[in-house]
Amino acid sequence: MKTVLSSLTDVELQKFIMDLGEPKFRAAQIRDWLSRGAPDFSVMKNIPNTLREKLDTVAQTLPVKIVKKLQSSDGETTKFLLELNDCEQIECVLMRTTYGNSVCVSSQAGCAMGCKFCASTLLGLKRNLTVDEIYSQILVAQWELRSALSDDKQIHANGDPNNNDVSHIVVMGTGEPLQNTENVIGFIERANKDMNIGWRRITVSTCGIVPGIYDLIKWGRPINLAISLHAPVDELRSTIMPINNKYKIAEVLQAADEFTKLHNRQLMIEYILLGKKDENGETVLYNCTPEYAEQLSKLLAGKNCMVNLIPWNAVDERDFASPSGNAVHRFQDILIKNGIHCRIRRERGTDIGSACGQLRLNNKKD
Ligand code: SF4
Repeated sequence: MKTVLSSLTDVELQKFIMDLGEPKFRAAQIRDWLSRGAPDFSVMKNIPNTLREKLDTVAQTLPVKIVKKLQSSDGETTKFLLELNDCEQIECVLMRTTYGNSVCVSSQAGCAMGCKFCASTLLGLKRNLTVDEIYSQILVAQWELRSALSDDKQIHANGDPNNNDVSHIVVMGTGEPLQNTENVIGFIERANKDMNIGWRRITVSTCGIVPGIYDLIKWGRPINLAISLHAPVDELRSTIMPINNKYKIAEVLQAADEFTKLHNRQLMIEYILLGKKDENGETVLYNCTPEYAEQLSKLLAGKNCMVNLIPWNAVDERDFASPSGNAVHRFQDILIKNGIHCRIRRERGTDIGSACGQLRLNNKKD
């Protein structure tokens, strides 16, 4: 098995290079390439060919390799399907926005949570990702951002807020981050230290693992917390999110309140708007009727929160339908009338493959 160089400490990397009979300073040169997300050794232009070839036989730069890369037609979104060393696959998404470059990373290969609208859980949970595997997703994105630049611009990009670096992270890809809390925390600490990404630019999204939220409180870093709520009442939520049978809405919001008050942060609430087909093939609203909008308003009244409304993205294997634009706006209007901050999440990269987890699912079926 090849050694993954990005997983080595500086001392370990030096030893590895010197054991190959090479001078110590090569380790620093290679480290520089690794920190930029170099996908392989062929790009390391200041390393002699002979060493690059030698490295290629015994080592790899990252613990992931790109299987597929899809670019949206507007150039704003790049979606990666990545393969891990045990052949499990994960997805990550790079989004170029007006406020910076944001990467959505996966924390697990697959997911055990069983949310009824989600493609990521259809093949179950395979395993937790390591710190290095999660971190390598932002390195892949970083390389993508920088590879378009000349060497000169790469140097000047450092320190410039409008530069081509990853600036924001959301742990919202495949998996439930708070089922892999230790490695997610390790990843965030590393992204903050090694990539200088501020706590307030990092968001962890959970389906509502209450003990995990308290673990984040104990950890004490002022990151952002997002709760995938998707329903204002337990009866409805339990039909689409099995985790609600274990942790009820009130308990989840209590823990989330404690987190956000501790750090004086605005809580993010994720709400997917789902429809269903009736027996006549007509779409009827499932969790986004006007009554549910009123109930959601009551539930969130007085909270410092922002509701992200996400019109459902079709997943063939899932038995839901997209609500009409009118229904989406009516739901939003009721929240606004009741004083709840909310926005409809802009759909990104719809031309490059759909919902979270679907790229991986389709590839497994091929
Ligand atoms: S929505 Fe998130 S927690 Fe639920 S099954 Fe999908 S990946 Fe898992």
